[in-house]
Amino acid sequence: MFERGSADEIRQWRGSLASLPRPADTAATIDRITELEKLKSAACAEQARLSAELEAMTRQERAEAGVRKEKQTAGVAAQVALARRESPHKGGRLLGLAKALTNEMPHTLAALQAGVLNEWRATLVVRETACLTLEDRQTVDREIGGDLKRLATMGDHRLVAAVKQLAYRLDAESVARRSRKAESERAVTIRPAPDTMTYVTALLPVAQGVGVYAALKRAADSARNEGDPRNRGQVMADTLVECVTGSPARQPVPVDLSLVMTDRSLLSGDDEPALLLGYGTIPADTARQLVAAAADAGLAWLRRLYTSPRAGDLIAMDSRARRFPAGLGRLITVRDGGRCRTPWCDAPIRHLDHPVRHADGGDTSALNGQGLCEACNQAKEALGWRARPRPGPRHTVETTTPTGHRYRSQAPPLPGASRPGLTRLELYLTDLVLAV
Ligand SMILES: [Zn+2]
Repeated sequence: MFERGSADEIRQWRGSLASLPRPADTAATIDRITELEKLKSAACAEQARLSAELEAMTRQERAEAGVRKEKQTAGVAAQVALARRESPHKGGRLLGLAKALTNEMPHTLAALQAGVLNEWRATLVVRETACLTLEDRQTVDREIGGDLKRLATMGDHRLVAAVKQLAYRLDAESVARRSRKAESERAVTIRPAPDTMTYVTALLPVAQGVGVYAALKRAADSARNEGDPRNRGQVMADTLVECVTGSPARQPVPVDLSLVMTDRSLLSGDDEPALLLGYGTIPADTARQLVAAAADAGLAWLRRLYTSPRAGDLIAMDSRARRFPAGLGRLITVRDGGRCRTPWCDAPIRHLDHPVRHADGGDTSALNGQGLCEACNQAKEALGWRARPRPGPRHTVETTTPTGHRYRSQAPPLPGASRPGLTRLELYLTDLVLAV
Protein backbone atom coordinates (compact mmCIF):
# COMPACT_ATOMS: atom_id res chain seq x y z
CA MET A 1 0.00 0.00 0.00
CA PHE A 2 1.01 3.59 -0.50
CA GLU A 3 1.48 6.24 2.08
CA ARG A 4 -1.76 8.27 2.32
CA GLY A 5 -1.69 11.28 0.02
CA SER A 6 1.60 10.32 -1.62
CA ALA A 7 2.25 11.03 -5.27
CA ASP A 8 2.11 7.24 -5.80
CA GLU A 9 -1.41 7.03 -4.40
CA ILE A 10 -2.60 9.88 -6.63
CA ARG A 11 -0.90 8.25 -9.61
CA GLN A 12 -2.93 5.12 -8.87
CA TRP A 13 -6.23 7.06 -8.84
CA ARG A 14 -5.30 8.58 -12.14
CA GLY A 15 -4.48 5.17 -13.57
CA SER A 16 -7.83 3.80 -12.39
CA LEU A 17 -9.69 6.51 -14.34
CA ALA A 18 -8.50 5.05 -17.62
CA SER A 19 -9.76 1.57 -16.74
CA LEU A 20 -13.30 2.52 -15.69
CA PRO A 21 -16.06 0.62 -17.51
CA ARG A 22 -17.71 2.71 -20.26
CA PRO A 23 -20.91 4.52 -19.10
CA ALA A 24 -24.15 2.65 -19.74
CA ASP A 25 -26.01 5.44 -21.57
CA THR A 26 -25.84 9.11 -22.61
CA ALA A 27 -27.13 10.38 -19.24
CA ALA A 28 -24.42 8.47 -17.39
CA THR A 29 -21.87 9.87 -19.86
CA ILE A 30 -22.89 13.45 -19.06
CA ASP A 31 -22.82 12.68 -15.32
CA ARG A 32 -19.29 11.41 -15.63
CA ILE A 33 -18.13 14.46 -17.62
CA THR A 34 -19.62 16.74 -14.93
CA GLU A 35 -18.01 14.84 -12.06
CA LEU A 36 -14.62 14.83 -13.78
CA GLU A 37 -14.88 18.61 -14.22
CA LYS A 38 -15.49 18.93 -10.49
CA LEU A 39 -12.57 16.62 -9.84
CA LYS A 40 -10.30 18.94 -11.85
CA SER A 41 -11.45 21.90 -9.73
CA ALA A 42 -10.87 19.97 -6.50
CA ALA A 43 -7.38 19.05 -7.75
CA CYS A 44 -6.71 22.75 -8.43
CA ALA A 45 -7.81 23.63 -4.89
CA GLU A 46 -5.39 21.07 -3.48
CA GLN A 47 -2.61 22.34 -5.77
CA ALA A 48 -3.27 25.86 -4.42
CA ARG A 49 -2.94 24.69 -0.80
CA LEU A 50 0.23 22.75 -1.63
CA SER A 51 1.82 25.66 -3.52
CA ALA A 52 1.18 28.05 -0.63
CA GLU A 53 2.61 25.47 1.79
CA LEU A 54 5.68 25.01 -0.42
CA GLU A 55 6.39 28.71 -0.21
CA ALA A 56 5.83 28.85 3.55
CA MET A 57 8.09 25.82 4.14
CA THR A 58 10.81 27.22 1.88
CA ARG A 59 10.67 30.55 3.67
CA GLN A 60 11.02 28.88 7.05
CA GLU A 61 13.90 26.62 6.00
CA ARG A 62 15.80 29.52 4.52
CA ALA A 63 15.12 31.80 7.47
CA GLU A 64 16.59 29.13 9.73
CA ALA A 65 19.60 28.91 7.42
CA GLY A 66 20.11 32.68 7.78
CA VAL A 67 19.06 33.67 4.25
CA ARG A 68 18.07 37.33 3.89
CA LYS A 69 14.31 37.94 3.96
CA GLU A 70 13.99 39.17 0.38
CA LYS A 71 15.75 36.04 -0.94
CA GLN A 72 13.81 33.51 1.12
CA THR A 73 11.13 32.75 -1.46
CA ALA A 74 13.22 33.25 -4.62
CA GLY A 75 12.63 30.59 -7.24
CA VAL A 76 9.50 29.08 -5.62
CA ALA A 77 7.20 30.30 -8.39
CA ALA A 78 9.58 28.77 -10.95
CA GLN A 79 9.40 25.43 -9.09
CA VAL A 80 5.59 25.56 -9.14
CA ALA A 81 5.78 26.35 -12.87
CA LEU A 82 8.02 23.36 -13.61
CA ALA A 83 5.88 21.04 -11.47
CA ARG A 84 2.73 22.18 -13.28
CA ARG A 85 4.39 22.28 -16.70
CA GLU A 86 3.72 25.96 -17.19
CA SER A 87 5.85 29.01 -18.01
CA PRO A 88 7.48 30.85 -15.08
CA HIS A 89 5.15 33.77 -15.77
CA LYS A 90 2.13 31.54 -15.27
CA GLY A 91 3.85 29.88 -12.29
CA GLY A 92 4.05 33.28 -10.62
CA ARG A 93 0.37 33.88 -11.26
CA LEU A 94 -0.59 30.44 -9.92
CA LEU A 95 1.45 30.93 -6.75
CA GLY A 96 -0.17 34.36 -6.23
CA LEU A 97 -3.59 32.75 -6.67
CA ALA A 98 -2.67 29.98 -4.23
CA LYS A 99 -1.61 32.42 -1.52
CA ALA A 100 -4.63 34.66 -1.97
CA LEU A 101 -7.03 31.70 -1.79
CA THR A 102 -5.45 29.97 1.18
CA ASN A 103 -4.60 33.05 3.25
CA GLU A 104 -7.35 35.49 2.42
CA MET A 105 -10.27 33.93 0.56
CA PRO A 106 -11.38 30.67 2.23
CA HIS A 107 -14.91 30.74 0.74
CA THR A 108 -13.63 31.04 -2.81
CA LEU A 109 -11.18 28.22 -2.11
CA ALA A 110 -14.05 26.09 -0.76
CA ALA A 111 -16.09 26.83 -3.92
CA LEU A 112 -13.12 25.64 -6.00
CA GLN A 113 -12.79 22.54 -3.83
CA ALA A 114 -16.51 21.80 -4.32
CA GLY A 115 -16.21 22.14 -8.09
CA VAL A 116 -18.57 25.15 -8.17
CA LEU A 117 -15.78 27.37 -9.51
CA ASN A 118 -13.03 26.25 -11.82
CA GLU A 119 -9.46 27.48 -11.49
CA TRP A 120 -9.87 30.26 -14.05
CA ARG A 121 -12.99 31.67 -12.36
CA ALA A 122 -11.26 31.55 -8.97
CA THR A 123 -8.42 33.50 -10.64
CA LEU A 124 -10.92 36.11 -11.84
CA VAL A 125 -12.29 36.61 -8.30
CA VAL A 126 -8.75 36.98 -6.92
CA ARG A 127 -7.69 39.30 -9.74
CA GLU A 128 -10.67 41.62 -9.40
CA THR A 129 -10.16 41.99 -5.65
CA ALA A 130 -6.38 42.46 -5.73
CA CYS A 131 -6.61 46.21 -5.11
CA LEU A 132 -8.87 45.94 -2.05
CA THR A 133 -7.90 45.95 1.61
CA LEU A 134 -7.86 42.54 3.28
CA GLU A 135 -11.11 43.34 5.05
CA ASP A 136 -12.93 44.33 1.84
CA ARG A 137 -11.49 41.37 0.03
CA GLN A 138 -12.86 39.08 2.69
CA THR A 139 -16.27 40.70 2.35
CA VAL A 140 -16.25 39.89 -1.38
CA ASP A 141 -15.03 36.39 -0.56
CA ARG A 142 -17.89 35.86 1.87
CA GLU A 143 -20.65 37.43 -0.22
CA ILE A 144 -19.70 36.07 -3.63
CA GLY A 145 -17.40 33.11 -2.93
CA GLY A 146 -19.74 31.96 -0.16
CA ASP A 147 -22.89 32.00 -2.30
CA LEU A 148 -22.46 28.62 -3.95
CA LYS A 149 -25.94 28.56 -5.40
CA ARG A 150 -25.44 31.84 -7.28
CA LEU A 151 -21.85 31.00 -8.26
CA ALA A 152 -22.87 27.71 -9.79
CA THR A 153 -24.65 29.37 -12.71
CA MET A 154 -22.29 32.29 -13.33
CA GLY A 155 -20.15 32.53 -16.46
CA ASP A 156 -16.83 34.42 -16.56
CA HIS A 157 -18.41 37.69 -17.59
CA ARG A 158 -21.18 37.76 -14.99
CA LEU A 159 -18.77 36.70 -12.27
CA VAL A 160 -16.35 39.54 -13.05
CA ALA A 161 -19.23 42.02 -13.21
CA ALA A 162 -20.56 40.88 -9.82
CA VAL A 163 -17.14 41.10 -8.15
CA LYS A 164 -16.42 44.51 -9.71
CA GLN A 165 -19.75 45.88 -8.63
CA LEU A 166 -19.23 44.84 -5.02
CA ALA A 167 -15.58 45.97 -5.00
CA TYR A 168 -16.59 49.38 -6.28
CA ARG A 169 -19.31 49.68 -3.65
CA LEU A 170 -16.80 48.79 -0.91
CA ASP A 171 -13.90 50.99 -2.03
CA ALA A 172 -14.43 53.17 -5.09
CA GLU A 173 -11.11 54.98 -4.59
CA SER A 174 -8.96 51.81 -4.75
CA VAL A 175 -10.71 50.65 -7.88
CA ALA A 176 -10.08 54.03 -9.52
CA ARG A 177 -6.44 53.97 -8.40
CA ARG A 178 -6.02 50.52 -9.83
CA SER A 179 -7.43 51.57 -13.17
CA ARG A 180 -4.93 54.47 -13.28
CA LYS A 181 -2.14 52.01 -12.56
CA ALA A 182 -3.42 49.66 -15.26
CA GLU A 183 -3.19 52.53 -17.74
CA SER A 184 0.53 52.74 -17.06
CA GLU A 185 0.83 49.13 -18.28
CA ARG A 186 -0.36 49.87 -21.83
CA ALA A 187 1.74 47.98 -24.35
CA VAL A 188 1.93 46.37 -27.77
CA THR A 189 2.93 42.72 -28.16
CA ILE A 190 3.34 40.26 -31.01
CA ARG A 191 2.91 36.48 -31.22
CA PRO A 192 2.71 33.98 -34.05
CA ALA A 193 -0.61 32.88 -35.52
CA PRO A 194 -1.20 29.82 -37.72
CA ASP A 195 -0.53 29.91 -41.48
CA THR A 196 2.36 32.39 -41.41
CA MET A 197 0.26 35.13 -39.85
CA THR A 198 0.86 37.12 -36.63
CA TYR A 199 -1.25 38.67 -33.91
CA VAL A 200 -0.19 42.21 -32.99
CA THR A 201 -2.01 43.01 -29.77
CA ALA A 202 -2.35 46.44 -28.17
CA LEU A 203 -3.30 46.70 -24.50
CA LEU A 204 -4.95 50.13 -24.22
CA PRO A 205 -7.11 52.16 -21.84
CA VAL A 206 -10.71 51.35 -22.70
CA ALA A 207 -11.57 54.71 -24.31
CA GLN A 208 -8.57 54.58 -26.64
CA GLY A 209 -9.10 50.92 -27.47
CA VAL A 210 -12.75 51.45 -28.33
CA GLY A 211 -11.74 54.58 -30.29
CA VAL A 212 -9.16 52.71 -32.39
CA TYR A 213 -11.61 49.95 -33.17
CA ALA A 214 -14.40 52.38 -34.06
CA ALA A 215 -12.10 54.38 -36.38
CA LEU A 216 -11.03 51.22 -38.22
CA LYS A 217 -14.61 50.09 -38.52
CA ARG A 218 -15.64 53.49 -39.89
CA ALA A 219 -12.84 53.31 -42.48
CA ALA A 220 -14.04 49.86 -43.51
CA ASP A 221 -17.67 50.97 -43.81
CA SER A 222 -16.83 53.95 -45.99
CA ALA A 223 -14.48 51.91 -48.21
CA ARG A 224 -17.19 49.29 -48.67
CA ASN A 225 -19.75 51.98 -49.52
CA GLU A 226 -17.42 53.18 -52.26
CA GLY A 227 -17.34 49.69 -53.73
CA ASP A 228 -14.04 48.43 -52.27
CA PRO A 229 -13.98 44.66 -53.00
CA ARG A 230 -12.10 43.82 -49.77
CA ASN A 231 -14.16 42.54 -46.86
CA ARG A 232 -14.51 44.51 -43.64
CA GLY A 233 -11.75 42.64 -41.74
CA GLN A 234 -9.33 43.11 -44.63
CA VAL A 235 -9.94 46.86 -44.89
CA MET A 236 -9.59 47.26 -41.11
CA ALA A 237 -6.28 45.36 -41.07
CA ASP A 238 -4.90 47.26 -44.09
CA THR A 239 -5.94 50.62 -42.60
CA LEU A 240 -4.20 49.75 -39.34
CA VAL A 241 -0.95 48.92 -41.17
CA GLU A 242 -1.18 52.09 -43.27
CA CYS A 243 -1.74 54.34 -40.27
CA VAL A 244 1.06 52.80 -38.22
CA THR A 245 3.77 52.37 -40.86
CA GLY A 246 2.82 55.44 -42.88
CA SER A 247 2.94 53.49 -46.13
CA PRO A 248 0.23 51.57 -47.99
CA ALA A 249 -0.38 48.09 -46.60
CA ARG A 250 0.79 46.30 -49.70
CA GLN A 251 3.92 48.35 -50.10
CA PRO A 252 7.10 46.66 -48.83
CA VAL A 253 8.30 47.43 -45.29
CA PRO A 254 12.02 47.27 -44.45
CA VAL A 255 12.78 44.64 -41.77
CA ASP A 256 15.71 42.54 -40.53
CA LEU A 257 15.17 38.80 -40.44
CA SER A 258 17.17 35.76 -39.48
CA LEU A 259 16.31 32.56 -41.23
CA VAL A 260 17.61 28.99 -40.82
CA MET A 261 17.05 26.56 -43.66
CA THR A 262 18.75 23.65 -45.37
CA ASP A 263 20.82 24.08 -48.50
CA ARG A 264 18.46 21.87 -50.44
CA SER A 265 15.42 23.90 -49.41
CA LEU A 266 17.17 27.04 -50.52
CA LEU A 267 18.71 25.82 -53.75
CA SER A 268 16.92 22.71 -54.97
CA GLY A 269 13.28 23.37 -54.21
CA ASP A 270 13.17 20.87 -51.32
CA ASP A 271 10.13 21.26 -49.05
CA GLU A 272 11.84 21.00 -45.63
CA PRO A 273 10.39 24.01 -43.74
CA ALA A 274 12.61 26.86 -42.52
CA LEU A 275 12.87 28.53 -39.12
CA LEU A 276 12.32 32.27 -38.93
CA LEU A 277 13.81 33.42 -35.63
CA GLY A 278 11.37 35.26 -33.41
CA TYR A 279 8.45 33.80 -35.32
CA GLY A 280 8.75 30.03 -35.82
CA THR A 281 8.46 27.55 -38.67
CA ILE A 282 7.55 28.82 -42.12
CA PRO A 283 7.02 26.88 -45.38
CA ALA A 284 10.12 26.44 -47.57
CA ASP A 285 8.38 28.31 -50.36
CA THR A 286 7.76 31.39 -48.22
CA ALA A 287 11.40 31.27 -47.07
CA ARG A 288 12.63 31.12 -50.67
CA GLN A 289 10.45 34.13 -51.57
CA LEU A 290 11.97 36.09 -48.67
CA VAL A 291 15.50 35.17 -49.71
CA ALA A 292 14.87 35.95 -53.37
CA ALA A 293 13.48 39.37 -52.50
CA ALA A 294 16.50 40.10 -50.29
CA ALA A 295 19.00 38.76 -52.82
CA ASP A 296 17.50 40.91 -55.58
CA ALA A 297 18.19 43.94 -53.44
CA GLY A 298 21.67 42.67 -52.49
CA LEU A 299 20.66 42.45 -48.85
CA ALA A 300 21.14 38.77 -47.97
CA TRP A 301 24.07 37.39 -45.96
CA LEU A 302 24.58 33.68 -45.77
CA ARG A 303 26.81 31.41 -43.77
CA ARG A 304 27.06 27.71 -43.15
CA LEU A 305 25.72 27.04 -39.69
CA TYR A 306 26.79 23.50 -39.00
CA THR A 307 26.54 20.24 -40.85
CA SER A 308 25.48 17.74 -38.23
CA PRO A 309 23.48 18.08 -35.04
CA ARG A 310 26.32 16.96 -32.78
CA ALA A 311 29.56 17.96 -34.40
CA GLY A 312 30.91 20.68 -36.63
CA ASP A 313 33.33 23.53 -36.42
CA LEU A 314 30.96 26.02 -34.84
CA ILE A 315 29.87 23.66 -32.07
CA ALA A 316 33.47 23.42 -30.94
CA MET A 317 33.81 27.15 -30.85
CA ASP A 318 34.61 28.32 -27.33
CA SER A 319 36.10 31.27 -25.62
CA ARG A 320 38.09 32.13 -22.55
CA ALA A 321 35.99 35.19 -21.96
CA ARG A 322 33.30 35.13 -19.32
CA ARG A 323 30.78 36.69 -21.68
CA PHE A 324 29.69 34.93 -24.83
CA PRO A 325 31.32 36.52 -27.90
CA ALA A 326 28.84 37.67 -30.54
CA GLY A 327 29.38 34.77 -32.98
CA LEU A 328 29.01 32.11 -30.30
CA GLY A 329 26.01 33.88 -28.79
CA ARG A 330 24.41 33.96 -32.21
CA LEU A 331 25.00 30.23 -32.65
CA ILE A 332 23.42 29.43 -29.27
CA THR A 333 20.42 31.64 -30.00
CA VAL A 334 19.85 29.93 -33.34
CA ARG A 335 20.42 26.44 -31.90
CA ASP A 336 17.83 27.15 -29.18
CA GLY A 337 15.34 28.37 -31.79
CA GLY A 338 15.31 31.89 -30.33
CA ARG A 339 13.23 30.73 -27.35
CA CYS A 340 14.06 30.22 -23.66
CA ARG A 341 15.35 26.72 -22.95
CA THR A 342 13.38 26.11 -19.75
CA PRO A 343 10.76 23.43 -20.39
CA TRP A 344 7.26 24.93 -21.00
CA CYS A 345 8.64 28.48 -21.14
CA ASP A 346 8.24 29.94 -24.60
CA ALA A 347 9.55 33.43 -23.89
CA PRO A 348 12.13 34.96 -26.26
CA ILE A 349 15.80 34.60 -25.28
CA ARG A 350 17.10 37.60 -23.33
CA HIS A 351 20.23 36.15 -21.69
CA LEU A 352 22.96 33.75 -22.64
CA ASP A 353 23.55 31.61 -19.59
CA HIS A 354 26.34 29.28 -18.47
CA PRO A 355 24.50 26.15 -17.12
CA VAL A 356 27.65 25.46 -15.07
CA ARG A 357 28.50 28.89 -13.70
CA HIS A 358 31.74 30.52 -14.71
CA ALA A 359 32.63 30.80 -11.02
CA ASP A 360 32.22 27.00 -10.67
CA GLY A 361 34.62 26.32 -13.51
CA GLY A 362 32.06 26.35 -16.37
CA ASP A 363 33.60 27.36 -19.68
CA THR A 364 32.18 29.71 -22.27
CA SER A 365 31.19 27.33 -25.06
CA ALA A 366 28.16 26.24 -27.05
CA LEU A 367 27.98 23.11 -24.88
CA ASN A 368 28.00 25.10 -21.65
CA GLY A 369 25.68 27.77 -23.01
CA GLN A 370 21.92 28.16 -23.21
CA GLY A 371 19.47 30.90 -24.07
CA LEU A 372 17.14 31.89 -21.22
CA CYS A 373 14.45 34.51 -20.69
CA GLU A 374 14.80 37.09 -17.95
CA ALA A 375 12.58 35.26 -15.42
CA CYS A 376 14.26 31.86 -15.89
CA ASN A 377 17.70 33.41 -15.66
CA GLN A 378 16.75 34.91 -12.30
CA ALA A 379 15.09 31.71 -11.02
CA LYS A 380 18.24 29.75 -11.82
CA GLU A 381 20.29 32.10 -9.64
CA ALA A 382 18.10 31.31 -6.60
CA LEU A 383 19.39 29.18 -3.77
CA GLY A 384 19.65 25.43 -4.44
CA TRP A 385 19.30 25.49 -8.24
CA ARG A 386 21.87 23.70 -10.41
CA ALA A 387 22.18 23.04 -14.12
CA ARG A 388 24.59 21.12 -16.30
CA PRO A 389 24.83 19.99 -19.91
CA ARG A 390 24.02 16.30 -20.40
CA PRO A 391 24.56 13.92 -23.30
CA GLY A 392 21.57 13.71 -25.63
CA PRO A 393 20.61 13.47 -29.28
CA ARG A 394 20.54 17.29 -29.37
CA HIS A 395 22.00 19.83 -26.95
CA THR A 396 20.55 18.91 -23.55
CA VAL A 397 20.61 20.74 -20.23
CA GLU A 398 19.48 19.20 -16.96
CA THR A 399 18.22 21.61 -14.30
CA THR A 400 17.95 20.44 -10.68
CA THR A 401 15.62 22.41 -8.38
CA PRO A 402 16.11 22.80 -4.60
CA THR A 403 13.83 19.77 -3.94
CA GLY A 404 16.07 17.58 -6.10
CA HIS A 405 13.59 17.32 -9.00
CA ARG A 406 15.29 17.20 -12.36
CA TYR A 407 14.03 18.67 -15.60
CA ARG A 408 15.68 18.15 -18.96
CA SER A 409 15.47 20.51 -21.84
CA GLN A 410 16.56 19.66 -25.31
CA ALA A 411 17.31 22.16 -28.06
CA PRO A 412 14.53 22.08 -30.67
CA PRO A 413 15.15 20.22 -33.92
CA LEU A 414 16.35 22.67 -36.52
CA PRO A 415 15.38 22.40 -40.19
CA GLY A 416 16.77 19.17 -41.63
CA ALA A 417 17.20 17.53 -38.19
CA SER A 418 15.75 14.22 -39.27
CA ARG A 419 17.77 14.09 -42.50
CA PRO A 420 21.50 13.70 -41.98
CA GLY A 421 23.74 15.10 -44.64
CA LEU A 422 21.83 18.31 -45.24
CA THR A 423 23.74 21.51 -44.64
CA ARG A 424 21.99 24.08 -42.54
CA LEU A 425 22.34 27.68 -43.50
CA GLU A 426 21.63 30.75 -41.54
CA LEU A 427 20.65 33.73 -43.59
CA TYR A 428 20.65 37.25 -42.35
CA LEU A 429 18.29 39.34 -44.36
CA THR A 430 18.73 42.97 -43.45
CA ASP A 431 16.60 45.87 -44.53
CA LEU A 432 14.65 43.31 -46.43
CA VAL A 433 11.90 44.74 -48.51
CA LEU A 434 9.12 42.53 -47.32
CA ALA A 435 6.08 42.23 -49.50
CA VAL A 436 4.35 39.03 -48.51
ZN1 LIG B 1 12.08 31.23 -19.56
